[in-house]
Amino acid sequence: MWYIVSVIFGAMIGSFLNVCIYRLPKEESIIWPRSHCPTCKKTIKFYDNIPLISYLLLRGRCRYCKGPISLQYPLVEGITALSSLFLFMKFGTTLSYLFYFAFVAALIVITVIDLYHQIIPDGISLPGIGVGLLTSLVLPQITFFNSLTGVLLGGGSLFLVATLYEWIFKREGMGGGDVKLLAMIGAFLGWKAVILTILLSSLIGSITGILIMILRGKDFKYAIPFGPFLSLGAVIALFYGENLIRWYLYWNR
Ligand SMILES: [Zn+2]
Repeated sequence: MWYIVSVIFGAMIGSFLNVCIYRLPKEESIIWPRSHCPTCKKTIKFYDNIPLISYLLLRGRCRYCKGPISLQYPLVEGITALSSLFLFMKFGTTLSYLFYFAFVAALIVITVIDLYHQIIPDGISLPGIGVGLLTSLVLPQITFFNSLTGVLLGGGSLFLVATLYEWIFKREGMGGGDVKLLAMIGAFLGWKAVILTILLSSLIGSITGILIMILRGKDFKYAIPFGPFLSLGAVIALFYGENLIRWYLYWNR
């Protein structure tokens, strides 16, 4: 029963995340006005705004102008709903569930905005650092010291990499947004998870980069945003970090 509630709750939050993704880069209010169709500008009725279900019922088209509704909407709603379910299965009805769900929700918004606009909004990452530090005071999973060292290591290490990259290649490789994002990840997950996140995101990022180069030809020069890989690495660290570190230590005794 609670599993179903966590899925519905997740889908509703996902619907709100879509609003954030659409409006945050434009610096519009996320509360007002109500959602409207981007093609015909008609306000979307509440019964057409049910997460996932409305998209299926309307077959991905606006009720009035039949303009297409981006696949982003059901995707974000579905991924957020699943995140809520998996976090609920891990943490149960605890404060930890709510805080880590807020963390993953922030990562989802950052990922989609970074994919569209190649920016990571400070409006999410900077308050995220503060929230992560504060919640470490009440969560049993992490100490304040671990959270603080996570922020310093996350912010510091990526800053170092970014500076070295610029110094060697004479162009900007990683944005300041990535540095603040990794500091936020450190605040929520601690310093060990920061190292794991850097390893995982570099690995997945390199493989993806090579695949794109093979598929599009080797003169592919578009910068691939790094935020989505950092976010993915952080989620893997959140769910499997303990196991991965234990497995590593076991094989390197
Ligand atoms: Zn429309």
